Amino acid sequence: MSDIIQLLPDSVANQIAAGEVIQRPASVAKELVENAIDAGASHIKINLKDAGRTLIQVSDNGCGMSDTDARMAFERHATSKIKAANDLFAIRTMGFRGEALASIAAIADVELHTKQHDQEIGTMIHISGSNLLKQEATSCANGTNFLVKNLFFNVPARRKFLKSNAAELKHIINEVQRVALANPDIAFSLIHNQQTVYELGLDNIRKRIVALFGKNSTQNLIPVNTDTSLVKITGYIGQPKHARKTFGEQFFFVNKRFMRHPFFHRAVMQAYEKILPPDSIPSYFLFFEVKPENIDINIHPTKTEIKFENESAIWQMIKATVRESLGKHNVIPSIDFDQAGSLDIPVASRNTGNIRPPQIKIDPTYNPFETEKKQSGGSSNPSSPKDQSQTQHWEKLYQDFEKADPADELPISQPDETSGEIRHEDTFSGKTFIQFKNKYILTPVKSGLMVIDQKRAHERILFETFMAVIESQETVSQQQLFPHTFDLNAADAELLRSVLDDLKALGFDIRDFGNNSFIINGTPGILDNSSPLSVIESLLEDIKSSASDLKEKAREKVAASLARASAISYGSSLKQEEINQLIDQLFACATPNFSPTGKQVLTIVPIEHFEKLLK
Ligand code: ADP
Ligand code: MG
Repeated sequence: MSDIIQLLPDSVANQIAAGEVIQRPASVAKELVENAIDAGASHIKINLKDAGRTLIQVSDNGCGMSDTDARMAFERHATSKIKAANDLFAIRTMGFRGEALASIAAIADVELHTKQHDQEIGTMIHISGSNLLKQEATSCANGTNFLVKNLFFNVPARRKFLKSNAAELKHIINEVQRVALANPDIAFSLIHNQQTVYELGLDNIRKRIVALFGKNSTQNLIPVNTDTSLVKITGYIGQPKHARKTFGEQFFFVNKRFMRHPFFHRAVMQAYEKILPPDSIPSYFLFFEVKPENIDINIHPTKTEIKFENESAIWQMIKATVRESLGKHNVIPSIDFDQAGSLDIPVASRNTGNIRPPQIKIDPTYNPFETEKKQSGGSSNPSSPKDQSQTQHWEKLYQDFEKADPADELPISQPDETSGEIRHEDTFSGKTFIQFKNKYILTPVKSGLMVIDQKRAHERILFETFMAVIESQETVSQQQLFPHTFDLNAADAELLRSVLDDLKALGFDIRDFGNNSFIINGTPGILDNSSPLSVIESLLEDIKSSASDLKEKAREKVAASLARASAISYGSSLKQEEINQLIDQLFACATPNFSPTGKQVLTIVPIEHFEKLLK
């Protein structure tokens, strides 16, 4: 019998290797940006078309390559970063396996322009599907400029598995966030379809976090700092009250490399134990510095899984240092949590992920701020007398809070099902509600002063109403007199398309005109007169800034975002009648204590607090 084993041609071997390293456009962006960092660049520009399907361009002002190196760079196992096996234990560069460029060139059309700073002339190389099409001298800027076009053009199966542009763009943004956080001393630009997504100048880490995640996060950041012989941990953690229900702002870095580490994640979660709203995850940006020989980076082709030598000691250190920072910043109240169990704010439903439709009949056209409707609306009003059973749990607030500590973050427990039914009229009738700074509503209760955040309260009410509307499938759409047409950029259009069905279930009548144009013919009756376009815009922003995969709980997400977008804002002055209705409706909700995104809606300042103040 003749021999049958052959060596695979390089192009095939590279394509197979590419399957491991390059899963999607974001992987290309990551590899090219890491190369630019290794080349010592101080400014890296990423330019994308169609979420990277059509073009991923990464240009840097790093050291550049000679003409021979430029050609060599595309060979498999070609690297300038390590020479011998021993070097694997002292890695300071992002890359070292020498397979990224070979992989990318095997499955795309790649153009490289590169020039070393001390050279007059640079090199241009064009490779497509591992075939060298052109190499020539060229005049170009110092540094390196890669253009990767038509990714997976020769691997249709891969191309087919790509998700929507919105999802692929999100992956790229995630990768850019990671390298940008790890390298605040490098300027980054990210452009998608000619629109600037990020323009990041040289920053310190705190400023970089704020630049990436929004200006509100600065007062939200608590510094962390520990230096031991084993590991140095620095960075920031988020206030528990700003923790979100979705993943997205949890980052570990080791020696400037992003890593996933579910085990260390649990250490952080344990440090936050009992001070988080239900089902929420605090943000954290933690940077570890360890001796390179104490970690193994080379256990996964994408190098995001990293093995530590002293994992359990570091685990303890993370928990202790996070806990200490929380304590220093007075986030952990000085009460013994084990005893505090009985003092909890009752919550009717712990998990908004599973929200029960409130047992109230919803009138989708009901607007809490139209007083006339309330009077004639009769039984459709969520706070009408026959629905009083809804209010029994929150009443426990007043009884239990007499013993409560003046902590602003309180642990949460399940409601006490046996609590006696107290009608909310009994407590609130004749009560005064004062609007404070057009932001809070204050009202005296048995144990002190209740403070309610007006916007969050309204978000909670709208959210439960929207969920009930979706579940009852009784949508009422109000046709617009003047339909609005609007255009979106490609990424936003993609995002909107992915939620059109959910929006329809809520009463939006939006048509896709093609070419990223849309027309709004109708809006949910429940929305007040706020401009539907601005509601859609803030809805898209909100979905973009949240990390979760949209497919999961899409309806709930849309309901929460819509509630956020359409809730009364801070600064709106409310009439007494409006305040009364807001309070009525809030306590008819299944989960009045938390906004749909898990923020605290209300708190009680205990009477002793005032006594102490006026001692
Ligand atoms: P690795 O990064 O693991 O070494 P790559 O395939 O990503 O492997 O790159 C191969 C080589 O090409 C690198 O070792 C480096 O010498 C060179 N190179 C790649 N990108 C750049 C760049 N942007 N600037 C300078 N040199 C680069
Ligand atoms: Mg590399």
